Parts: sequence; structure tokens; C-alpha cells
Amino acid sequence: MIRPLAPEAVQVVWFKRDLRVADHAPLLAAAARGPVVCLYVVEPEALARDDFDPVHLGFVLESLEALDRALAPLGVRLSVRVGRLPEVFEGLWRERPFAALHSHQETGVRWTFARDRRVARWAEARGVAWHETPQDGVARGGRRGVHGAAGLACPPLPAPTRLRPALGYATGRVPSLRDLDLPPERVRDRQRGGATLAEGLLAAFLARRADGYRGGVSSPVDASVAGSRLSPHLAYGTISVRTVLHAVEAARRRAAEAADGDARPAGHPSADDALRAFAGRLRWRRDRIAELEAAPRLEFEAVAPDAGAGAARPFDDERFAAWAEGRTGFPLVDACQRVLRDTAWVNFRMRAMLASFATTRLGLPWRAVGLHLARSFLDYEPGIHWPLVQRSAGAAGPAARAVFDPVRQARAHDADGRFVRSQLPVLAAVPDAYVATPWRMPRAVQRAVGCVLGRDYPHPVVPPAPRAAPAPA
Ligand SMILES: Cc1cc2nc3c(=O)[nH]c(=O)nc-3n(C[C@H](O)[C@H](O)[C@H](O)COP(=O)(O)OP(=O)(O)OC[C@H]3O[C@@H](n4cnc5c(N)ncnc54)[C@H](O)[C@@H]3O)c2cc1C
Repeated sequence: MIRPLAPEAVQVVWFKRDLRVADHAPLLAAAARGPVVCLYVVEPEALARDDFDPVHLGFVLESLEALDRALAPLGVRLSVRVGRLPEVFEGLWRERPFAALHSHQETGVRWTFARDRRVARWAEARGVAWHETPQDGVARGGRRGVHGAAGLACPPLPAPTRLRPALGYATGRVPSLRDLDLPPERVRDRQRGGATLAEGLLAAFLARRADGYRGGVSSPVDASVAGSRLSPHLAYGTISVRTVLHAVEAARRRAAEAADGDARPAGHPSADDALRAFAGRLRWRRDRIAELEAAPRLEFEAVAPDAGAGAARPFDDERFAAWAEGRTGFPLVDACQRVLRDTAWVNFRMRAMLASFATTRLGLPWRAVGLHLARSFLDYEPGIHWPLVQRSAGAAGPAARAVFDPVRQARAHDADGRFVRSQLPVLAAVPDAYVATPWRMPRAVQRAVGCVLGRDYPHPVVPPAPRAAPAPA
């Protein structure tokens, strides 16, 4: 319950993975109670973790700039501070005591939970009321199916129309990576942050791209257009899951009205099927996040430690480097690592293939594999990532394991080698018959097409499977 406060009691809104003004319950609650400070804290503790990459913060900093632009016309500027928590809150409080802290509840990993406990103890000691609201359908402890005002079924909340600024606090502008002594980002062509871009992506997906969703998301060639590409925006909350789900429902209603009995022939996938499949992914998202929240050890411990997943083998630096740098000699693996290096995104199936290949074929430990992928994905969301890494890498046990063989995946989803050639120009002239298996190319063909194994493209780092293992196509 939110305690009634004196009208002028200052309210601090602590932005975390919710970098937006629309559908932001803590911001609305604070605005109704008094003057507000809108605060984001860059935590050196997060930047020092082994799952962190500057690419994540680059996206966050852009989203903070966009958030500041959205807050300014409402009457408040965003304040960004750098430091450990709760020390940053203590510093703010000493500038001028505040009455309440409003934030979304953060679910997922152990370190944020430990940090939130420190904040809770500090707030109690200072007599600051901390109001936390669940978001995206997950509550602390892994409880799914959050109902009421915070539930996914409830329509998204409007942005506040006006915010009263709290005076007497130092302001803090959005820093750059350089201000934070971080190296520049290495990714050339990643998605950009900010709520306006998230809303634009959603609108374009619903209006034009969703039709290709069901057929397109498995293909490394088509998925970048067929998928919604909302993942980094959902990870950092520039748009809420609820906003997306309600827009999907509205699109389905409009489509149903427009069709008005004009059904497609039986067996033809309808636009409605695509939208339902997409909404299903958002529910999987909630379920995976709830899974990690209920069992945070999934980030560190294999569900089935004896299932293999490379954990017991000595770490093979050379194999790891070949996998991470895209020099395994397996074209689909190498192409996926190149596209990740350049864009920080690849589709679900290729992520699963990368993790599965690394542990089952190269014998690399699942956690090192998961950490590398976490740093490589712009959309790194621990609650989705670790449960799926465990499943893909075989760490969740043989029953949960799906072995994604790169040759079989290439034949099923990149039969003409378009994706592989786009990332590995050295394979440009390799005939289609060999583009997934260049080691089978006769020497004369290798010389004729300018792709000699061991000189222009690596020999396979491990012997290729004699036949592609039975696997999901
Ligand atoms: C090993 C591995 C690691 C992954 N790590 C991440 C991660 O760190 N962050 C992340 O957002 N996704 C992760 N995924 C899931 C998936 O690959 C991405 O969500 C998807 O590729 C993002 O593209 P999109 O936004 O176009 O997805 P869409 O197909 O448009 O899906 C919409 C949203 O639903 C969610 N989603 C999609 N697929 C899944 C799924 N299978 N399980 C749970 N939620 C899903 C995502 O939030 C996504 O943005 C991982 C998959 C694997 C196999």
C-alpha cells in the first residue's frame, strides 16, 4: 500500500530496465504525490561483471538520451549518476531528504537481488518508503500471472501529462562510454536505443512485417526482417511487454473486422496465426524470466551437471577462440559469429545452434559459452538467456537438449548459402553443393573457386560428423 505523504514530499523515480515514460506505473505514482527526481544510476558493479559488454551500455545511454528528451516537455530532466548503491541514494538524500523511492521490481539475477536488499535496508534506515511495482507479468520469487494493475491483461498506462521538478538536487547529464572510462563499442551496425524507435519498430512489424513471421523467423536470412526485432527494447524496457501485447490484440481485431468472413483457404497460414505465434513468444519470455527468478542458480549451475555440456573437460583455448571468432571451418557457425560481431543480433535458431555446437561438438563449458553469447547479444536479458543457454547447450539434461547440427541447419535454412556467403565472402564462388561442407570440395574445385582449405578458409576445427545428427530441421 502506498502511504499518503505530505504534498511537497519529494518522490524519486529510479529507472532501471524500464527506460520509457509510457506504461510506467512508478512514474505515474510519483507524479501524483509530489515533485519528482527522475534518476538513472550507472553502477560500476554491473560494468565489472563478466556478462557485460559496452554494446549493452551504448544502447542504454542512447535510450537515456531519448528518455531525457521525453521527460523534458513534461517538466523534468533526467538525472544520471554513477556509483554503487545505496551510496548514490545516500548522496542524493544528503543533498535534500526525499520521502519515497518508486521503481519497477527487478527480477532475474542474484547480484541485482543482493543490491536491492542493500537498497531496502538503506531505505528503511532513512525512513524512505520504497514502492516497487512488478512489470512484464513477472513478480519477485518467480510468480507468474501477475494480476490487477500490474498484470499483462490490464491496458497500458498513459504517460504522465505533467511532472513537477524537485529542486535542490545536483543534476547529472547522460555520460558517454568515454566519460565512464570504457572502451568504444566494437559492433558496427547495431540497433539504436530509445522509446520512439521501439514504437516505430512495433508499428512497422504489425503493419507490414508480421505476415512473414511464421515462415521467416527460423531463417538466418529472413529473420532480421520477419522478426519483430523488439528484443533489445524489451530488454531495457524502452517499450513494455504489455504495450506490445495490447497493440497485437488491437491489430488482430482490426484484421478480423477488415476480413469480415473473407477467410483464407484452409491450410494457408493467416496473419492472425503469425500474431498469435508472436504473442506466444512474449509469454515464453515471461515464463523464462520467471524460471530464472525462481531459481537464480541457473545462471551459474547446470541443471544436470552430469549431462556433459563441456563442464568436466579441460578448457580448450584454441577451440574457444575459433568458435568465438568464427574460424571453426563450419560455415554456418562462422557466419553467425561474424554477423553477431557486426550487428550483435542473430535469430533464435542460430543462437541455439551456436550454443549446442560449442558444447556438444567442441566440448566447451556451457557457462563460458553462455557468457560469450551474453556479451555478444545486444538484447542480453539474463532471465531469457540462461534458461535457454542451459537447454541449447545440453546443461539442462539430455531430455531438454536439442542438438542443432550446423550442416543440417544450413541445408534446411540457408540451402543456397546466401547467408553464409554474405558473411564469408571467401565462399562466394563455392558451388551450392559444398557451401555448407567445404571440406568435401575436391582440391581441383577449391583451386578453381579460389577457396583452398587451410589457406583461404580453415579446415574444420573438429572432424565433421559423418552424417548430420538427427536434429530439429
Ligand atoms: C541460447 C539462446 C540465448 C538467448 N538469449 C536471449 C537474450 O539474452 N535476450 C533475448 O531477448 N532473447 C534471447 N534469446 C531468444 C531469441 O533468440 C530472441 O529473443 C530473438 O531472437 C529476438 O528477436 P526478435 O525480437 O525479432 O524476436 P521475436 O520473434 O519477434 O519475439 C518477440 C520477443 O519475444 C521474446 N522471445 C522470443 N523468442 C523467445 C524464446 N524462445 N524464449 C523466450 N522469449 C522469447 C523476446 O523478448 C523477443 O524480443 C536466446 C535464444 C537462445 C537460443
